[in-house]
Amino acid sequence: MTRSGREYLEGLRDGREIWLDGERIKDVTTHPAFRATAASFAGLHDLAHDSPHTPVLVQGGVHRAYAVPRSYEDLVARRKAYKVWAEASYGFLGRTPDYMASGAAGFAAAPEVFTTDCFDGAEHALAYHRRLAEGSLHAAFTITDPAAERVQVVEDRADGIVVRGAKTIGTGAVFADEILVGAIEPLAPEDTERALSFSVRVDTPGLKLISRTSYERRARSVFDQPLSARYDENDALLVCDDVFVPWERVLTYRDVAATAAMWWQTPAYLNFVHQSATRFWTKLEFLTGLAILIARSNGTDELPPVTQAIGRLLGAVAQAKAFVLAAEASWEPVDGGRGGVRPGQEISFAQRIMAGELYPRAVQDIKLLAGGAIVQTPASGRDLLHPELGPLVRQYFRTPGHPAEDRLKLLKLAWDALGSEFAGRHEQYERFYQGAPHVYLTMQTWAGAADDCERLAQACLDGYDLGTTR
Ligand SMILES: Cc1cc2nc3c(=O)[nH]c(=O)nc-3n(C[C@H](O)[C@H](O)[C@H](O)COP(=O)(O)OP(=O)(O)OC[C@H]3O[C@@H](n4cnc5c(N)ncnc54)[C@H](O)[C@@H]3O)c2cc1C
Repeated sequence: MTRSGREYLEGLRDGREIWLDGERIKDVTTHPAFRATAASFAGLHDLAHDSPHTPVLVQGGVHRAYAVPRSYEDLVARRKAYKVWAEASYGFLGRTPDYMASGAAGFAAAPEVFTTDCFDGAEHALAYHRRLAEGSLHAAFTITDPAAERVQVVEDRADGIVVRGAKTIGTGAVFADEILVGAIEPLAPEDTERALSFSVRVDTPGLKLISRTSYERRARSVFDQPLSARYDENDALLVCDDVFVPWERVLTYRDVAATAAMWWQTPAYLNFVHQSATRFWTKLEFLTGLAILIARSNGTDELPPVTQAIGRLLGAVAQAKAFVLAAEASWEPVDGGRGGVRPGQEISFAQRIMAGELYPRAVQDIKLLAGGAIVQTPASGRDLLHPELGPLVRQYFRTPGHPAEDRLKLLKLAWDALGSEFAGRHEQYERFYQGAPHVYLTMQTWAGAADDCERLAQACLDGYDLGTTR
């Protein structure tokens, strides 16, 4: 049985050390900067725990994202579960618990990657997966290094290690039960102090999360900023101020190769992409739906250029969907002979390129369709309720067939999705959360079909020479 939303929220009241704007946050479930988003995450747990969606989301008492897929059909079933949770936040909660769950399932599919001459973390990786799955725990991860003061070992003890330093960017970390700390980018061979991965509870002594601005707190109301107000998943810098990590929570240790291999030689990263590609497809569906509603509300929907712009967006939705379906259809067996499968690597890796480039373009296209209307809205919905101002607002903000309240509701949602600070963060998220372009573009040169491409071009060249006649 998975945890209910209420049980999840109870777990967050653990004395964790979260800082925002010079304030130590006592309880993220009640603080106005976090509580509505915490409730949104709780709503996901309830969908899995007991709702008409439970059979899609859960199998054998655990969320499907924790299952190690054994077949194409398993991948499809898992994607259907991803889709239900993605739709619940219209794609704006990127780090729903199924994200790291899918990564943990990736570790469990190839635990041998954690066994090296330096350290044997295989049993720990399996235990990590089991702990998350059985407790339906919400795990975040910080595997990106800040420019300085990166997490490193400062003391080896008989019972574990003490670590100090920072990691970035802890998306959703303030709402998580555990944080996996690691390093996905290659480290220098001599960088063994920093070559480690471990998972700790968020309330571990010495662990601090320094939050960015809360868009949730800035939101005036749900009517005014419907997404910021409820789906601000937060990003926080993780600081380990001499954090003790018991050995059983250490996955890789002083091992440059295994610290990277746990992402690339297990299916963990490909599982991440499968989840996030499904969410990305859902988010584009939502944004395209907004574009259609805005064009209709503006009375421009039948103009040929507007129709064509909608067509382009619908094409983008199909492209995002196609990457998910193609990654599943091109499934590959997981090395190691345990019978697991993973989404196809070539297509999965390419999804990162497509999505990072497509998202900002789609946002620009919709803003172009929307025009000035998404900016020209009253400061808040309170203007609609004011006895003197309300009738004026209702009169001057309506369009034919669209009462002012409906239109303002739509326009405010659109601005929150496309133009607000929250929206700006989402654009940066879609561009970077899967890594930086110089990394994933270079990776595609070996993961992509370079040989086939070259062979075809070479076949054409080989088919003629100076003496060839037509
Ligand atoms: C909103 C958001 C949420 C995120 N959430 C998480 C999370 O939950 N967990 C986590 O671990 N990480 C997270 N990340 C971090 C993300 O993985 C990194 O931002 C990403 O890997 C890029 O690393 P960086 O930010 O250090 O950029 P850099 O590597 O500093 O790159 C910055 C820019 O410089 C370019 N550049 C840098 N070096 C080179 C080079 N040698 N050659 C050419 N170009 C170069 C890059 O292509 C990029 O355009 C998140 C990021 C964002 C924006």
